[in-house]
Amino acid sequence: MRKTIVAGNWKMNGTRESIKTLLDAITDRAMKIDGLVTLVCPPAVYLSQVVDQIADAPVAVGAQNVSEQSKGAYTGEWSLEMLQDLGCKYVILGHSERRSLFGESDELVAEKVAATLEAGLVPVLCVGETLGQREAGDALVVVNSQISATLQRIGIEGFASVVVAYEPVWAIGTGLTATPGDAQEVHAAIRAQLAEKDAIIADNLSILYGGSMNAANAAELLAQQDIDGGLIGGASLKADEFLTICAAAA
Ligand code: PEP
Repeated sequence: MRKTIVAGNWKMNGTRESIKTLLDAITDRAMKIDGLVTLVCPPAVYLSQVVDQIADAPVAVGAQNVSEQSKGAYTGEWSLEMLQDLGCKYVILGHSERRSLFGESDELVAEKVAATLEAGLVPVLCVGETLGQREAGDALVVVNSQISATLQRIGIEGFASVVVAYEPVWAIGTGLTATPGDAQEVHAAIRAQLAEKDAIIADNLSILYGGSMNAANAAELLAQQDIDGGLIGGASLKADEFLTICAAAA
């Protein structure tokens, strides 16, 4: 069964106090609905605070990144075991900011996805084309090749436990959004690529859209057949707006 997931990527924002306020507002009104996952992904240093504060509220917690290494001399990194220890269930991987600002390659992202699956957490694998690639007509080729890199590493069976997020790079944090039709085309292409290997796994895969999704445009995007939720950056820092998106997805 495909899950609907609305995930807030808080990026590198917040203080102990502002995160408490934001999370209070979300947990007060988060809906417990079968098939809907409301997920928040705070900065790593606040994961513990967020897990404790959520308690029994119907909100899951994810990290924004993780090391592919299990332990040792990797200053500044954190491991999957640490995320498990905290009670974290999801990990965003291959976000375009990780790829472009921190040089994460398709191969490294695939390693991280494999390690995350092995640890029993759910990877949220981000893919997406740049504006230049879209204008050159290469959006589908780029996205399919990013998916292929992980497919080669984990096999189609791995995708039974992966969430994919299609995030056109030019739409992230810019206020520009893919049209529902353009987003649907890419989502359908990802599903078709995986269906060539296993139709059931492809059909059950949740594929989220990310890129300036907000309260005003969410319903139309989420109404598309192959859009199974959203990965929300800026709008997830406002509880009302984030909850409106969750309601549109429910
Ligand atoms: C993101 O960071 O994953 C994202 C989609 O950001 P925004 O919603 O701000 O475009």
